[in-house]
Amino acid sequence: MTASDPEPTPSASSLAEVRARIDHSAALAGREPASIELIAVSKTHLMPQIQPLLDAGQLSFGENRVQEAADKWSALRANPALRLHLVGQLQSNKAEAAVALFNAIHSVDRGSLVDALARAMERGGRRPDCFLQVNIGDEPQKGGCGIAELPALLTHSRDAGLPVIGLMCVPPADTEAAPYFALLAKLAKDHGLAGLSMGMSSDYETAVLIGATHVRVGSALFGARG
Ligand SMILES: *Cc1c(COP(=O)(O)O)cnc(C)c1O
Repeated sequence: MTASDPEPTPSASSLAEVRARIDHSAALAGREPASIELIAVSKTHLMPQIQPLLDAGQLSFGENRVQEAADKWSALRANPALRLHLVGQLQSNKAEAAVALFNAIHSVDRGSLVDALARAMERGGRRPDCFLQVNIGDEPQKGGCGIAELPALLTHSRDAGLPVIGLMCVPPADTEAAPYFALLAKLAKDHGLAGLSMGMSSDYETAVLIGATHVRVGSALFGARG
């Protein structure tokens, strides 16, 4: 990237458009727009690209790497209104840093990570909201626990004292997402979980219709990642 070839800057208008689409889908589904948190996924983007969204009042951001997020956000972490979400896979040895930085962790998918997070919360005195990530399309290359393993992982998480508020998924690419969103919504309901982290740039409106409480939107706000 050179000075003559700057990364496109997201505008307040892209944010307003995404927010309006969320509100419209919420209205169609008879839901309160305020019950849906728009997470602006700012991974790979730097502060000059992010600042216009902050200026427009966006306070909820998603990152997929702990170190990148710490470098980028530590100066702004003092703002109590800022909400940082970890949406990418988490290694157990980074659990402590993740607990120190994030308000929510969307990628809890195995018992060893549950234990590492529980220890980090105990030591750090912070308790970020946790979502259990489900490999909803049963894809070998994807993160997330298998659907059959979800009950045991949830029991383990609750026994360890993790504040689990919901489920998260990334459906298979290039297929209709709605059936996977509906399955995640049913699993959450069956297990008494209110949070549903689902929907990305290509399918967040569908996700809101099916009950998403958190949508994770990157490229529709920032443009394509380089
Ligand atoms: C990158 C990412 C997103 C945002 O994807 P877009 O298609 O750019 O909106 C959402 N969720 C997860 C888990 C991601 O890794």
